[in-house]
Amino acid sequence: MAPLSILIVGSGIAGPTLASFLLLSPLPPHELPHITILERSPGPRVQGQNVDIRGAGMAVIRKLGLEAAVRAATTGEEGVQFVDERNRVWAAFAADKSGRVQTGTSDVEILRGPLAKILWRRNMALSEEVEREGGVGVEYVFDEYLGSLEQDGGKCHVRFGKSGKRRSFDIVVGADGLQSRTRRQAFGDADENVRGDDGGKERVKRLGMYGAFFSMPKGETDTMWKRWFTAPRRRVIMVRPHQDKDKSTVFMWVVNEQDPRFRFVATQGVDAQKALLAEYFVDAGWESGRIIEEMAMADDFYYDMVAQVHMDKWSEERVVLLGDAGYCASPISGMGTTLALVGAYNLAGALIQHPDDIPAAFAAYETSMRHVVSKAQNLPLGPRQPYLISPETAYGVWKMRTAFAFVYWTGLAKVMFMLKGPPANAVPVEDYGFKQAAEWCE
Ligand SMILES: Cc1cc2nc3c(=O)[nH]c(=O)nc-3n(C[C@H](O)[C@H](O)[C@H](O)COP(=O)(O)OP(=O)(O)OC[C@H]3O[C@@H](n4cnc5c(N)ncnc54)[C@H](O)[C@@H]3O)c2cc1C
Repeated sequence: MAPLSILIVGSGIAGPTLASFLLLSPLPPHELPHITILERSPGPRVQGQNVDIRGAGMAVIRKLGLEAAVRAATTGEEGVQFVDERNRVWAAFAADKSGRVQTGTSDVEILRGPLAKILWRRNMALSEEVEREGGVGVEYVFDEYLGSLEQDGGKCHVRFGKSGKRRSFDIVVGADGLQSRTRRQAFGDADENVRGDDGGKERVKRLGMYGAFFSMPKGETDTMWKRWFTAPRRRVIMVRPHQDKDKSTVFMWVVNEQDPRFRFVATQGVDAQKALLAEYFVDAGWESGRIIEEMAMADDFYYDMVAQVHMDKWSEERVVLLGDAGYCASPISGMGTTLALVGAYNLAGALIQHPDDIPAAFAAYETSMRHVVSKAQNLPLGPRQPYLISPETAYGVWKMRTAFAFVYWTGLAKVMFMLKGPPANAVPVEDYGFKQAAEWCE
């Protein structure tokens, strides 16, 4: 049987990870799948700020021989401190460095950019190795996007949006993130964003929260702790350590479903996004003046709505969704990157176990991921979590700080994290017989 031809749309976290495991399958090099990765940005998309790798996600990193490379690139974040307008700490929850209890801070905190770069370079190195041994390896197509996608039972026929080129593949994997075009092409647009409109299923479930990530020069008050400041009118700023010790990172958000501009600016470019956030945070207090000034100058600013993707199934004939495209859990779950890594591992494993039966492979992938995805999407404080952690009034902010201080001073935090922490230690990482990649470090 000819090797499978696979198109992976998106070279973020999940895409290159899937390609690497497909190349680590125990097949001889000339029988390995022919993989094409399509990425709309001109090179690997290496932007983004702090993400967590937890439990099973780290097991996947080890299988790729990347533990040393990833640990060398972490930010060293110590934990989270809840601060007030005068920067007084009301409560502090440290990272559990053993990785046994999943607190708000993972034992492996890393910036998305370096992680994406490590995964991409690992994949390139494996691809070169396969080519040297007589296989085909991975073809990266940058600065190009999925234009259209049709299926005829046996094959997927795609048209690249920029060049207009037409190509056919046995399988298409949508690893193109929260706003996945592959998802809309394969599953239709009807259920995409329907809340309140026609009572449909609401595939992309908005959490009412709009956030931005960027980095800035490290200030005098910045430490190795994440400082979390909440202002009334549901505004939050987090300042966190960066991998580069001269910098800090910012994640700021507003929970607001009344002002339509938050949705509108998502398509309007960075200047409109920065202007709207500056308008909202100008009177937030604490270090908001500095944050707004730095935001204006940031060249790595990234804005998006915070949402989850809920789907009854992740495949449609020969198209399958992976990572945020199929089951985004949102940045507040702390599980997005771990789900992308484990999902890629399990999808590659399922394809190895069922090489001649694509529907069976996709079903096995679903079975391996369904449980952990629904646990990760079930936010500890429920679907209203964004509202509960971002109070409307000054009294609400005081009550929240008091509750955190109570949990901190009574030592209840550990019990709560054990009961309600991100479910990354509950994910089994099955052995599919992949070759262990050699340890790799830049
Ligand atoms: C630029 C960027 C910055 C981010 N910053 C943060 C952050 O600071 N903190 C955080 O918690 N999460 C962040 N995220 C989200 C985080 O990366 C994901 O939640 C998680 O890691 C899952 O990864 P993924 O591979 O499924 O999706 P992603 O990492 O989102 O990768 C999707 C990839 O698909 C590409 N793509 C999208 N559409 C197309 C198309 N039509 N054709 C071809 N390629 C396409 C994108 O350019 C991207 O490279 C960011 C995502 C991006 C894209």
